[in-house]
Amino acid sequence: MSATRVLVLNSGSSSLKYQLLDMRDRTRLAMGLVERIGERTGRLKHTPLTGDGTSRETTGPMADHEAALKAVAQELASDGLGLDSPELAAIGHRVVHGGKLFTRPTLIDDSVLAEIRRLIPVAPLHNPANLTGILTARALRPDLPQVAVFDTAFHTTMPEEAARYAIDVRTADEHRIRRYGFHGTSHAFVSRATARLLGKDPSEVNVIVLHLGNGASASAVRQGRCVDTSMGLTPLEGLVMGTRSGDLDPAVIFHLVRVGGMSTDEIDTLLNKKSGLVGLCGDNDMREIRRRVDEGDEQARLAFDIYIHRLKKYIGAYYAVLGRVDAVAFTAGVGENAAPVREAAVAGLEGLGLAVDGELNAVRSDEPRLISPGHARVAVAVVPTDEELEIATQTYALVDGSADRSEGLT
Ligand code: AMP
Repeated sequence: MSATRVLVLNSGSSSLKYQLLDMRDRTRLAMGLVERIGERTGRLKHTPLTGDGTSRETTGPMADHEAALKAVAQELASDGLGLDSPELAAIGHRVVHGGKLFTRPTLIDDSVLAEIRRLIPVAPLHNPANLTGILTARALRPDLPQVAVFDTAFHTTMPEEAARYAIDVRTADEHRIRRYGFHGTSHAFVSRATARLLGKDPSEVNVIVLHLGNGASASAVRQGRCVDTSMGLTPLEGLVMGTRSGDLDPAVIFHLVRVGGMSTDEIDTLLNKKSGLVGLCGDNDMREIRRRVDEGDEQARLAFDIYIHRLKKYIGAYYAVLGRVDAVAFTAGVGENAAPVREAAVAGLEGLGLAVDGELNAVRSDEPRLISPGHARVAVAVVPTDEELEIATQTYALVDGSADRSEGLT
């Protein structure tokens, strides 16, 4: 039997998320999460999906990523899904920053590893953890193809006028400062799934994708290719997020240094971890914010309004960038679940052909669906994202030799 399984690994600095999929029918065989790697009490939650789907939890010291992956391998083996199985075709790794060079999924060799390492200065939080995950997996199965799927790859089609900041060109080039964009696997998956929902080929439609999770980003996708996205050099730019500020006047930073006496690290923490919704109202979970809004909490209301105002500005901007829009697609934790966010983001945009049907918007489902009224000029859709499936699909297409077909697969 030929190898058809793909293990997807998403390594964070102290966590390891994984899924094992069978690409014959694109089903999930197992999934799980290791948390608190390197701390005294690590935790592994493993869910086999071949039986009744009951999760198993183990806690105990998890010294490093190697120990974590070994623990995962053990859990998988006890379900008959061991990583030594000849059915395992490849391991697909989520790599956050691929710079300008990596425009597609890439088979990992030493030169690829060196390039991912070279990009650490522009992704100091993410690329080191991704590298650790790759090295650990390579040590465990040195014979197996390992594939890097980059968060930035889908955005490498952005034209220069969208990708460049208006700063001195030489300084920008010297330090590789440009807009790279993130959440690319999600924007790719959702823009294609939206085209499918409309019964069209991705090359026939223009879509605005709103990936609204704890991190949030928007993208303008013209005929299957990204032409603009809201995140930039790092995932800090753009929309208001759970804990990140998104767009702000860069002079705020000089002001915080000169007048506020803050250090670079303090400002980094302020803008990445203590801003956005949590900075505005103390909560970053949209469920909690909506509960407070419904109870008349003014601070939560203002946070919600700022979040929506920014979102609307991006919808308008990307409408202008695309010229013609066929669909606006909401995805990720907030986009898929928060009907009030979708309703408020589109409210008042009837002039642009955008509207939401109250009843359709209230439906809860895991399936891609339209929420705009039948007569609307622009489709508004809720399209659940599946970054792991996208990574597995791209990985398998590469090792299966059908990479050229991968764009049409998802
Ligand atoms: P993600 O980063 O895509 O996993 O999204 C996580 C975020 O989704 C959480 O922080 C919540 O704000 C939001 N979320 C999840 N479920 C709901 C829900 N039922 N209603 C509103 N927001 C939700």
